[in-house]
Amino acid sequence: MAIQTLNGSCHCGAIAYTAEVDPDKAMTCNCSLCSKLGAVWAFGPKATFKLGKGEGRLGDYQFNKHVLHHRFCPSCGIESYAEGKGPDGSEMVGINLRCVDGVDVAKLSPKQVDGRSK
Ligand SMILES: [Zn+2]
Repeated sequence: MAIQTLNGSCHCGAIAYTAEVDPDKAMTCNCSLCSKLGAVWAFGPKATFKLGKGEGRLGDYQFNKHVLHHRFCPSCGIESYAEGKGPDGSEMVGINLRCVDGVDVAKLSPKQVDGRSK
C-alpha cells in the first residue's frame, strides 16, 4: 500500500473528515492515553487533512506535554483524530485508523511506539 485518501468519522457521524495517510505506516502507542483509547494511528501532514463535518463541535483534550490536541466528539465520545506539531515543528494530523472506512485494522502490523516512557 501507499498513501491513500481515507474517509473517517466518529461513531455518530457529527465529525467527518478526509485525510491522506499510509496505513502501512500504522502505529500503536503505550502511553497512558493510547492504552485506554486503543487507537491505531497513522500520521500525515495537516495540509492534506480536510474536516468535512464537526467544525466548532470538536472536543479538545490535552495531557502531558500538550503536544497533541485529541479531537473527540462531544456526542458519541469517539476520538477519531488528533492534531499537533510533529518533532520537526510541522503541523501533523494523527488519524485513528479504527475510524476510517476501508481499512481492516486487523490486517495491519502497527509499529509499537514507546510513548509511555517519553
Ligand atoms: Zn460522534
